[in-house]
Amino acid sequence: MICLSLTAGTLAENLRAAARFAPVIDMVELRADFLLREQRTDLHRFPSALPAARDGNRLPAILTVRAGRDGGQWREGEGERRHLLLHGVRGGGYAWVDLEGWLRGSDAGLLEAAAAAGTTVIRSMHDFEGVPDDLAKHLDGAARPQEIPKAAVMPGGSADLLRFARALQGLAPRRRVVVAMGAVGFATRVLARRFGSMFTFCSPNDIDARVAAPGHVDPETMAGLYRYHSIDADTAVFGVIGNPVMHSQSPVYHNRRFAEDQLNAVYLPFAVDDVDAFFELADLIPVDGFSVTIPHKQAVMGHLVQSDASVLGAGACNTVVRRGGGDADGGWIGYNSDVEGFLTPLLDAASQAGWPDLRGRRATVIGAGGAARAVVYALLRRGVNVLLLNRTLDRAEALVRDLAGTDSGASGAVTCAVLEASAADVMRRYADVIVQTTSVGMVPDSEAEPIPFYRFSGHEIVYDIVYTPPVTRLLRRAADAGCTTIGGARMFAAQADAQYRLFSRLQLADRSPRQ
Ligand code: NAP
Repeated sequence: MICLSLTAGTLAENLRAAARFAPVIDMVELRADFLLREQRTDLHRFPSALPAARDGNRLPAILTVRAGRDGGQWREGEGERRHLLLHGVRGGGYAWVDLEGWLRGSDAGLLEAAAAAGTTVIRSMHDFEGVPDDLAKHLDGAARPQEIPKAAVMPGGSADLLRFARALQGLAPRRRVVVAMGAVGFATRVLARRFGSMFTFCSPNDIDARVAAPGHVDPETMAGLYRYHSIDADTAVFGVIGNPVMHSQSPVYHNRRFAEDQLNAVYLPFAVDDVDAFFELADLIPVDGFSVTIPHKQAVMGHLVQSDASVLGAGACNTVVRRGGGDADGGWIGYNSDVEGFLTPLLDAASQAGWPDLRGRRATVIGAGGAARAVVYALLRRGVNVLLLNRTLDRAEALVRDLAGTDSGASGAVTCAVLEASAADVMRRYADVIVQTTSVGMVPDSEAEPIPFYRFSGHEIVYDIVYTPPVTRLLRRAADAGCTTIGGARMFAAQADAQYRLFSRLQLADRSPRQ
């Protein structure tokens, strides 16, 4: 169930938010600690004013007055907080009331009122510092049998999230609510049922909405992008690992494709600071395949039982899938879809230019970072002769050495030079294609340009792999000079398409389309 946490200052604003999201939510939580003081008197009437849910029944509500020590906004006395909770519960309309674990033993009046009103107690604990060692104890023992235990914890990194997942594994079946907060724990929100949680919390995304807890997304994203309501035990889980990763466009791309193809699969951002811990977590969830972004493209290689030639050639891996797919435990296979992603738009442009292929062409590649490896590898394999320019010459030379050490099947040759104005002359001899792979020109520094000294003849194919902004200053100048230009968004789409084919073909071949 998707629970919308309501954090507006007035009951009317909260009702408006509930009505707005009613088509995609299943319940609400009134966070009465956010209410203006004068709004509290009518809080017992709130449940009966809620709109209908998708099933035609009124949306059920949790009453929560979260104390400051548990991450809430309540700054007044404890006596007044309990008085407010009693006032709400006695109104009889709340399906649940949230009572913190530390109230146990001193909450007899509240329990009596809840029992009389038919309100179920959610017995909650919060830890914003990490994952407590006694998490399982809280979830198993701290709540009375008729209560619903809830734990919201803040993993500090991948190893913490792994401990969280392991702690849940050993628990006896019971209705409970569990969540790992923040970017690291985001998967537990989307995969709430997989982690044994009755519901997941979301916050409205209105302009002045206050997110009730770290990691909340809005209910439309949860229900629409992540298709929360259709995630079940058979859903194949994919994702992207990186650090940072929450800005990644890959979840939008892959979830849309899964939905279009009616595949029972979901794709999540995993904020990962420890690749080893993530691989263990991937077995527990389980995860069937994932994209890899900065800074893990090399670190994942140690976990592969098999590497595609693109990984060995480029010395980096951006796509990992479980061998055999589905539940098979055949280890992980790595690919580098940047190689194909880079080549696809370039081959299109070359064919439009009337070139039979790229063989014998001469290209300048600017930059010698992770992405440049895939680019140089792809060009050399296609028989292109490459001039590699980088601000740091050592790094360019290391890239060339690494490529020479692999069985890359290269038929082109590569030479290196420092990226500086004096390189313009030699560039003119490597000017069929100019590929820009540095981060120069990327948002927010989008007026920067890595080769301001170079004058385009108008005959070059100019390819900038930066995709924010979609048209960089370099590409604008090249287009003005009459060059054919290719933006980084096309490479992004082509590499994502190559990944999607791996995810869907290898992992989902034996899964029938969703009805
Ligand atoms: P990276 O490994 O960090 O490499 C960065 C490169 O940029 C290095 O060559 C670095 O030179 C150079 N550089 C940075 N600042 C510079 C400056 N002020 N002047 C000159 N050179 C500078 O990064 P990456 O993973 O290769 O990614 C690079 C860019 O490609 C990013 O913008 C990324 O978003 C984009 N990308 C796009 C796609 C796509 O699908 N379109 C795929 C992958 C990457 P030094 O060696 O001298 O530091």
